[in-house]
Amino acid sequence: MVYFQVNSKCNGCLACLQNCPANAIDVKDSGEKRMLLHNMARCARCGNCWRVCPEQAIEFQHMLTNQWDEVVVLDLIHCQVCDEPLYTASFIETLKGKTGISEKPLCSRHKEALTLKINAHFAGYKSGQTR
Ligand code: SF4
Ligand code: SF4
Repeated sequence: MVYFQVNSKCNGCLACLQNCPANAIDVKDSGEKRMLLHNMARCARCGNCWRVCPEQAIEFQHMLTNQWDEVVVLDLIHCQVCDEPLYTASFIETLKGKTGISEKPLCSRHKEALTLKINAHFAGYKSGQTR
């Protein structure tokens, strides 16, 4: 996403470059073209360029929008019983690769319920055996 946007009103006067305290704006001339460059890592978001631009060509509002940008989308594994989101498929693959352990996808509540059931089953089995 480009946060610093210059619209078609720009006439290349370079007032923005001359008034940028962070050297975040640069200019590159190549053949018949002049290119205006902006470096977001240097930009202090001070708004000076926007204030001095005589053409209202800098759309500073894009740098101020309080939005979340989606950076990665991963497959999610849910609890097999209640569908509660647990972890990502790639995370469990990494874990499996490192530990060799592979478990049924269950939330802590249903994992506990399963453990109780198993324990009850084996307790019954054991007491049956001793009788
Ligand atoms: S917001 Fe400030 S630091 Fe960023 S480019 Fe404009 S003048 Fe430079
Ligand atoms: S000050 Fe405005 S018109 Fe001048 S070069 Fe910068 S963006 Fe373009």
